Amino acid sequence: MDYSSFFNKIELIRKPSALRDLYDGLGVDMSYVLMAGGLPNPAVFPISGIELTLSNSTKVKFSDEDMHLALQYGITTGHPELIQFIKDLTKRLHDPPTMNDSNHPGRLQFATTAGSQDGIFKTLNILLENGDTIITEENVYPNLLAVVQPLSVNIASIKTDRYGIVPESLEAYLSQWPKPEDGRPSKGSLKILYCVPNGDNPTGIRYTTERKQTIYRLAQEYNFLILEDDAYYFLEERPFTESFLSMDVDGRVIRLETFSKTIAPGLRLGYIAAPEPIWKQFKFVSQASTQGSSSLSQFMMLQLIRKWGVDGYLKHCDKVNEFYAKRRLICEEIARRHLDGLAEWTAPSGGMFLWITFTKLEDSLSFIMERLVKKKVLIVAGAAFHVDTSEKSAHARIAFSMASEETMEKGFKIIAEELREVLKE
Ligand code: PMP
Repeated sequence: MDYSSFFNKIELIRKPSALRDLYDGLGVDMSYVLMAGGLPNPAVFPISGIELTLSNSTKVKFSDEDMHLALQYGITTGHPELIQFIKDLTKRLHDPPTMNDSNHPGRLQFATTAGSQDGIFKTLNILLENGDTIITEENVYPNLLAVVQPLSVNIASIKTDRYGIVPESLEAYLSQWPKPEDGRPSKGSLKILYCVPNGDNPTGIRYTTERKQTIYRLAQEYNFLILEDDAYYFLEERPFTESFLSMDVDGRVIRLETFSKTIAPGLRLGYIAAPEPIWKQFKFVSQASTQGSSSLSQFMMLQLIRKWGVDGYLKHCDKVNEFYAKRRLICEEIARRHLDGLAEWTAPSGGMFLWITFTKLEDSLSFIMERLVKKKVLIVAGAAFHVDTSEKSAHARIAFSMASEETMEKGFKIIAEELREVLKE
């Protein structure tokens, strides 16, 4: 693959930060005589110790060395011990074909991020520019749109059903593009497909392995990248399905994961797995922006990982999944009782959202704003997930992650009462 054809003009001239690259390249630790970087001296840090209390009351104290590193600048791509854990986890769950092939030009590399959103922002700002095209699902995570809309790119949102982007619709769209070998003039650059393959936000759908295989084959045929934003991977029915990364023989998949849903979003910590040339450019952008993710968050994560290992982390994720799965079922049961005949939905297989269609309403936004907000019930109108938010939508996204059973009961009752009132008018 010619990765340079995927980078935008800015990236083609971007150089690494000489200072950060020295530090990153050597993996500098305290055994060096440090007279290079402007590292603040811990002698004047007003914090000298941290002790975490885990939810089972176990106390975990930061060692002096951890304290030192947690409060200091770190390596841009993440602390090596955390990266090793991420590698082990990825190997176990996805066994990516390019991971251990040191001769592969798209050899897989890893970096921590300040959450998936940071990963989305940096990745797409490396690749896209005015006139390029990104393919998305029909209903799109709004913070993806917030990243790509200012780049003046074409957003091709493709019909999506309960198993993912519909291959026939994707193929029909792609037929206007040249395949690498057919010499037709290109109408710009088709660069990447973005998707949320598990517990999708907003629709709660999960891609089947077969869908992913078909989409991957089309990505090979038309030569585009895939940005697999798998923020809800661990909040899904078990067993896990095969990821795009696990079928990526070419090195065309960029996978984003986050600790926001499995540990806590306040850490602002996640990671990217990307082919080396893209990872490298990602690193340069990080050197020039955030300088990597928070050392403190990484060391909080390391305290847990050292206790748990990969097995313990997976066990923890299972518990998190059980928690949300229970809520998902309760939410659906309450919705069924109140919204029978008024709304329909596909049962979400994971994630945090129920995506409903009001069967007798054309515009959920006016209903929510004019009726529900006055009753202090807040759900998100489907229009928020459209490229053109002025388009009418009969859908709404209801989050079951936070609301108690009592709150859900109250919320759905009000939604049903207000709907009946509107339908009478
Ligand atoms: N992608 C999707 C699909 C999400 O729903 C979210 C969280 N709302 C994110 C990315 C961002 O998550 P974070 O930055 O906290 O990892």
